[in-house]
Amino acid sequence: MRLRICHLYPDLMDLYGDRGNIITLVKRCNWRGIEVEIVPISLGQKIDFREMDLVFFGGGSDREQGLLFDDLSGRRENLVKAIEDGLVVLAICGGLQLLGRYYQIPDGTKIPGLEILDLWTIASNKRLIGNVCLEVNLGEGPNSLNTLVGFENHSGQTHLGQVKPLGKVMRGHGNNGQDGWEGAMYRNVFGTYLHGPLLPKNPIFTDHLLKLALQRRFGVASLGLLDDSLELAAHNYMLNRLTR
Ligand code: GLN
Repeated sequence: MRLRICHLYPDLMDLYGDRGNIITLVKRCNWRGIEVEIVPISLGQKIDFREMDLVFFGGGSDREQGLLFDDLSGRRENLVKAIEDGLVVLAICGGLQLLGRYYQIPDGTKIPGLEILDLWTIASNKRLIGNVCLEVNLGEGPNSLNTLVGFENHSGQTHLGQVKPLGKVMRGHGNNGQDGWEGAMYRNVFGTYLHGPLLPKNPIFTDHLLKLALQRRFGVASLGLLDDSLELAAHNYMLNRLTR
């Protein structure tokens, strides 16, 4: 089995260790004998998202978000088709903002988003920074995932319309520091402010994404177990530190 992962704008959208998410996806596949092809796509490069199994879109500065929007908007129709067909997408921070309706930067300019997620973001002069933990519910049975840990650093404050949040903030700011929600979910699209990188410390979430991708491409719904003691120790250490 082979999965194809598109890394969207790796040269522009890569903050606070976001690239570690790609490494984690590759490793957790390879440890189970699943091959992975990484397809890096940046400005002007062609891609058909329907051929991809997972798209990773990291965070970036306002400047970089402005630089890539034109290129990204030309990919909208193809990306929407793939998402409606079940493509798995993980978008972090700036990536999350660009999947929404718009991101209004401090001078009042609105960087238009792809309008795939019903949310909008307005920059504030107070950055929301720090460690975060969330309560989430992404699965069923003994492997169901209850918490995510990560790190946030954004000036954008995001408000959700008719889209589900990814989780509920236990500690930290989340989407806007006020309503208690964090991230967004639509079909197999997951958006979050959690950097860190996110996936190494949240192996159950990583496997959730991989299962969705394998299910869509090969009809395989289960993954071999790995020894996650180190990963879970890192997760639990942060969780205890934040909630104690
Ligand atoms: N530039 C955006 C903001 O500050 C996104 C930052 C990020 O991706 N960490 O809100």
